[in-house]
Amino acid sequence: MSAARSFVPINPADLLLPRLDGVRKAGRGWIARCPAHQDRSPSLSITEREDGVLLVHCHGGCEVADVCAAVGLKVGDLFPRTDTRSLTPQQRREFRQTAMIPRCRAALNVLATESTVLLLAADQLSDGHPLSPNDLTRVRVAALRVFDAKEVLGAR
Ligand SMILES: [Zn+2]
Repeated sequence: MSAARSFVPINPADLLLPRLDGVRKAGRGWIARCPAHQDRSPSLSITEREDGVLLVHCHGGCEVADVCAAVGLKVGDLFPRTDTRSLTPQQRREFRQTAMIPRCRAALNVLATESTVLLLAADQLSDGHPLSPNDLTRVRVAALRVFDAKEVLGAR
């Protein structure tokens, strides 16, 4: 029995770059065509950090999760993660945060929509018009959605 670690280290750049079109070396990283939108000019910039983490940025505004999904990868694949026990606490924190971003964005969108609903209801009441049973239900739904968003965002 060997005590050597059995996993094969996977370099995120080796995983991502072969799946992209129009890859060119640029500075300390690469540029390529973004797989998540109709990209004529390469607008995806990829930078490899010293610790091997790939930073992916679409100048067209695509989410990192969408870019990864378009080539069959997960956000976690951008981290040199062959053995999570080998991650430093700092890397583990960054990994969790990056994975949380799409859920946070969705929760914030819910908050924006539901606060508009509450504002409209408040305007109607201040104009002296009572809320219909349907409107009242919608206001209650808005409150529930805000509570849900709070859960997602991990607020207390
Ligand atoms: Zn894009």
